[in-house]
Amino acid sequence: MDKMIEFALNLGVGDARIISPDLIPVDDKFPGFCREPGCPGFNRSMSCPPNVEGPEWFRAEIKKYESVLVFKYDVPSTSLLGNERMDLMGLIHETAAAIETFARKNGCEKARGFAGGSCKESLCRDHLECRVLHGNRDCRNPGKARQSMSGMGVNFLELTRAMGWEMEVIAKETDPGAVPMGMVAGMVLLK
Ligand code: SF4
Repeated sequence: MDKMIEFALNLGVGDARIISPDLIPVDDKFPGFCREPGCPGFNRSMSCPPNVEGPEWFRAEIKKYESVLVFKYDVPSTSLLGNERMDLMGLIHETAAAIETFARKNGCEKARGFAGGSCKESLCRDHLECRVLHGNRDCRNPGKARQSMSGMGVNFLELTRAMGWEMEVIAKETDPGAVPMGMVAGMVLLK
């Protein structure tokens, strides 16, 4: 497990910790927020609601795992509120996928990464449509794109608290002067 943490830190994450799956807060209402008030990624990829299994499945799934590596990047609020947001979301996908691949090669053959934000809005932003959803073909980014944590009902704010990470919610109306830093995070189930 130390190797997993070291690998994640070497990727440049701000922190990475391994916790019990029991500590992952899952709430049925979160996928609903992707629909209403709505996220631009809703129903635009195979990684986001309504095209992912959802909280009930995820609750059962995490019980099959021994532990979970959760990682975060601390990022300026101005980046989260500006054009860099989608680059940051892409970074979460790539980091989750890289840790998953490393874990699979190092004894956790069923490792599975989850990301934050839409892969359509980040990794496939230059394409009109998700190739899986609209073309019934392979994902353009199988080595990067991972399913959405929100789509699985993960309560991100509660998760950061469980990790001991201080975070304030960054929304459109947030004043970056008052809240200069935010956070993006992802996770990898380990077994
Ligand atoms: S093709 Fe693009 S939008 Fe569709 S699942 Fe893959 S990365 Fe996401």
